[in-house]
Amino acid sequence: MPLLQPYATQSARMRSRRYAEKPSGASNEHRSDFQRDRDRIVHSTAFRRLVYKTQVFLNHEGDLFRTRMTHSLEVAQLSRSMARALGLDEDLVEAMALAHDLGHTPFGHAGQDALNAALRELSPGHGGFEHNLQSLRMVDSLEERYPDFDGLNLTLATREGILKHCSAKDALRLEASEPGGVAHRFLAKEQPSLEAQLVNLADEMAYNAHDIDDGIRSGLIEMEALRELALFERFHSSVLSEYPDLQGRRLLSEIIRRLLSAQVFDVIDQTRKRIAERGIQTEEDVRQAPALVSFSPELAKQVQHIKSWLFKHLYRHPQVIAKMDEAQSMVRELFASYLAHPNKLPEAYSRQADLPRAIADYIAGMTDRFAEMKWRELQAE
Ligand code: MG
Repeated sequence: MPLLQPYATQSARMRSRRYAEKPSGASNEHRSDFQRDRDRIVHSTAFRRLVYKTQVFLNHEGDLFRTRMTHSLEVAQLSRSMARALGLDEDLVEAMALAHDLGHTPFGHAGQDALNAALRELSPGHGGFEHNLQSLRMVDSLEERYPDFDGLNLTLATREGILKHCSAKDALRLEASEPGGVAHRFLAKEQPSLEAQLVNLADEMAYNAHDIDDGIRSGLIEMEALRELALFERFHSSVLSEYPDLQGRRLLSEIIRRLLSAQVFDVIDQTRKRIAERGIQTEEDVRQAPALVSFSPELAKQVQHIKSWLFKHLYRHPQVIAKMDEAQSMVRELFASYLAHPNKLPEAYSRQADLPRAIADYIAGMTDRFAEMKWRELQAE
């Protein structure tokens, strides 16, 4: 196993779990705490459902597009390779990466926006719906796998990596139920671990790259148009100068491969540099310093251009918007109809004290096609 740097996550605090567990005998000897987290996530119900959840393109629009599952695997791959180079915990970044999108609703951001609006209209103080918090809720309470506790009982480190953002209000609420726990860093204004910072950046790298790939495959954007982006153009011309006849998928794949490699090398160099400059020695130093995992300023600017470009030309493409509008109404109608007829919910949800939250949990857990099937059933009645 590659050597961990002293600033990698390893403290007893970060390895702690909310519920004490009986020693599990032999399995303790060959699996670290973070390997066990990773294994629990892979075996969870929420993880399996990611395969039928939309990333950008609706799941049924084609079998070749990324889903939440393949996106999460790509984030895990990028995270592991950068973690290894930086001497960080590979199992921990893998656990975080595989769990980071567990709270996503069906139909991507459209589903989240619809649930958020529905909850807020019902009661403005209710807290709404936010996928990061829902990912945490999924691993903390909604998964039913163990006899002694709800959720997966993951380590604090993995949970902290899952909770990437959190409003002050939510942080206070979480802190009240778990003092010094997963939301503490938002109140103390500290950074999360290097592993959490790394996965956050790998997420962005993965979706920029695969959305270019899926966007071109879908026909909604064109490779020629992407050449107005300096970073894309740089690799477009370097690939063509080496392989003048290359075109189509192979050309695109080679450009994307180089685009990702350049980002990976840049992050590794830049992060090493910042760690050295700040004299970072320990996990605690990491928490007190400004964010350490980052692109170099020059690359950060170019990556930001890609993001804005994709936002304008792909995520806001009229065809994507039309699908998303449809998906939003479907989720809104599902929510309204369960609220009016709670008897249509599975019993585990209908008997919850907070019915709107239970409905949101139920809908958020659905895959795209299951949500659509339920919507059709309710329409037919
Ligand atoms: Mg993601």
